[in-house]
Amino acid sequence: MAEVLPQVKKFLADGPLPFYIGGEFIPAVAGGAFETRDPGSGEVLARVAAGEAADIDAAVGAAQQAFDQSGWANLPANDRAVILHRLADKVDEQAEVLAQIESLDVGKPLGQAKGFDVPSLSQALRYFADLAVQTRLREPIALRGLEAYTYRSPYGVCGFIVPWNFPLLLLGWNIAPALAAGNTVLVKPAEDTPLSTLYFCRLAEMAGVPAGVINVVTGFGATAGAALASHPGLARVAFTGSPEVGRAVAVAAAKNLIPCKLELGGKGAAIVFDDVDIAQTAEKLAQAVTLNCGQVCCTATRWIIHQRIYPQFVDAVKAKLQAVRLGYGLDSATDMGPVVSEKQRRRVLGYLEKGQAQGATAVLQGGAEASLPGYFVKPALLAGSPDNICAREEIFGPVAFLMKFSTPEQAIELVHRSRYGLANSVWSADVPRARKMAEALVAGNSWINAHNVFAYGLPYGGANLSGFGGGVNSPETLRDYLRPQSIVRPYD
Ligand code: NAD
Repeated sequence: MAEVLPQVKKFLADGPLPFYIGGEFIPAVAGGAFETRDPGSGEVLARVAAGEAADIDAAVGAAQQAFDQSGWANLPANDRAVILHRLADKVDEQAEVLAQIESLDVGKPLGQAKGFDVPSLSQALRYFADLAVQTRLREPIALRGLEAYTYRSPYGVCGFIVPWNFPLLLLGWNIAPALAAGNTVLVKPAEDTPLSTLYFCRLAEMAGVPAGVINVVTGFGATAGAALASHPGLARVAFTGSPEVGRAVAVAAAKNLIPCKLELGGKGAAIVFDDVDIAQTAEKLAQAVTLNCGQVCCTATRWIIHQRIYPQFVDAVKAKLQAVRLGYGLDSATDMGPVVSEKQRRRVLGYLEKGQAQGATAVLQGGAEASLPGYFVKPALLAGSPDNICAREEIFGPVAFLMKFSTPEQAIELVHRSRYGLANSVWSADVPRARKMAEALVAGNSWINAHNVFAYGLPYGGANLSGFGGGVNSPETLRDYLRPQSIVRPYD
């Protein structure tokens, strides 16, 4: 078991942890605070300032002032890149501290936090900083009689509302392109996992990010989140989370007539043909559904298996899932931690009950892990009708729903039963066939012989119920944060 670092202990004890507004660490205007819990024990981890409309207002004001006066918006991209690389360096230097905070707050295994979540943040900062340096802000347009070009400049204050499953990674995916383009940002982290984002603010200060360029207000969705989404001072808003809240954020953005990026939930399918290596594919899909305790928007939660290999595949994957070691995030023997909260545990257990009440068979029962304190849930496999609630709705836990297919057309039809369109995968030794299938699936991402593939430069986004607005992580994402303007001079 890793010892909690003294810096982490001190950080957690210093509550209520304040907001970061205009380069200062300040408490809530109304003095409110809330508790965040360690999902591995159920104990209170820290107290955090609870933001309301007045705090959001102050933070938008600080971000606007920084946009107008700090020089950030007009810095040459090179100079901004230097600061963003310095910030990425700080993230890397403090990887152990950040990883511990993330593991304690989300419940995820420390190795995953250190090997994936934290570096994803620093890589996002570096990728977009470098991309901005290479981006032409003035692009000539060849037209008869007109001297014309497109000029691109940052928008202003960009608001970000983030969920609890990958706080640091999603912080990077969201704010890095906006900052690299010269905007200023205000982030509202999820109330269940605000801690690593607050610690990140200290690193921003140490890296010399000008005051007011990065602002963070913690708090609940209905108060701080809603106030941010509807604030008239925002130039853009981006939301990552559930479709229900995404719809409310889109409505608020529409009322202010500002662009809105939505990265929403998913119900990812994996189509497994009968020519795969069964043991290998079973292992990879077992990893996909237990990654972050299944709390991954794009992961494979509907497994559509060719009927010829169905029995062998089920045996292989059951054995893998039964071998998964549940445990505390800081314990190096842990493969899978708890879900994030008691509320989330009730949600997952509720789906298991409802699914079986609607006729699904439990191929692997799963359910609550009573031998551990905290919010642990064992991996489960259900099988049955594509109309079952567990085949249709996002559960967000370590649960996969199994279905059989015999023809490619049938597999595609099963995938499209879901209104989500985030990510699917096709597993086959016949790569041309897999490619054809991958192209036929309507979603932001189709992976072949893999699931959950992320890289900076590789566009990632959703279709249908999984969101709109351009996605993240691609060169186009940087463009999304630059406002295009035509500059034109007619000549004879
Ligand atoms: P959620 O929608 O409940 O909350 C997300 C954020 O919105 C939180 O910060 C919350 O405080 C805030 N919020 C809640 N109500 C609000 C309101 N009325 N106005 C403004 N903000 C409000 O989602 P969650 O439970 O935190 O996260 C799980 C969901 O996120 C899943 O659906 C998952 O698939 C999705 N997700 C999507 C992606 C992606 O990239 N597409 C990534 C991670 C998670």
